[in-house]
Amino acid sequence: MDLSLPQSPTPADDALDGPLARLAIHVGDITALPAGLRVDAIANAANETLLGGGGVDGAIHRAAGPDLAEHCRTHHPGGCPTGLAKHTPAFGLERQGIRHILHAVGPVWPQEDGHEVGYAMPGAPTDDSAKLGYTHADNLLASCYVQLFALAVRHGVRHLALPAISTGVYRFPKPRAARIAFGHAHGHLHRHEHPERITFVCFSDEDAKHYHDAIQTRGEWMANRRRV
Ligand code: ADP
Repeated sequence: MDLSLPQSPTPADDALDGPLARLAIHVGDITALPAGLRVDAIANAANETLLGGGGVDGAIHRAAGPDLAEHCRTHHPGGCPTGLAKHTPAFGLERQGIRHILHAVGPVWPQEDGHEVGYAMPGAPTDDSAKLGYTHADNLLASCYVQLFALAVRHGVRHLALPAISTGVYRFPKPRAARIAFGHAHGHLHRHEHPERITFVCFSDEDAKHYHDAIQTRGEWMANRRRV
């Protein structure tokens, strides 16, 4: 299912609208995108080894074939630290028109049982009640998106598809992750011509709703700003 984002009828003075026209939400499997989307790069929610794992990482490695892990072993022998991203060719996924895979390593959301505590701005809680940007995990996830967009610019990507990094086994709260992903994608498109399009790929309609909510919240914020 393809959900194009609602376009505001207000004119071009609305800084939200221009970038929004270049953003979309797609519900489905990032390794089997419809050809009509003409995606030429996908992001992977990798782990620090870059050698493949479960979830979306496993699906991408299976679709790309064993050359992908071999390439990572040779070209990125140290893997990739959390919060950073690395580029590889797409190998078996090239049959679908995908030329680049951009591997980002998202943060693990801290456990709630207190054994694995994330650190936060002084005085801020370490859990989902903290203001956005106040936990270390927020900033590491934001860094993933900044890195992915920088790689996309460097490699001349035209249409980048993004999975919801860290929201699976890494347990990052989904609405929070969607707000971070949308905010950074929107900010990047506001300032750059590349990529021309960014599509958030969600595994379910429920996951897609988090992106719609993030967009709506941002739209309301922009509208309130215009009023003052
Ligand atoms: P992480 O380890 O970063 O949490 P996961 O792969 O476990 O990564 O999950 C990240 C997100 O990707 C989750 O929201 C999950 O539902 C989604 N996902 C898993 N497989 C796919 C796929 N083939 N295509 C798109 N999204 C996927």
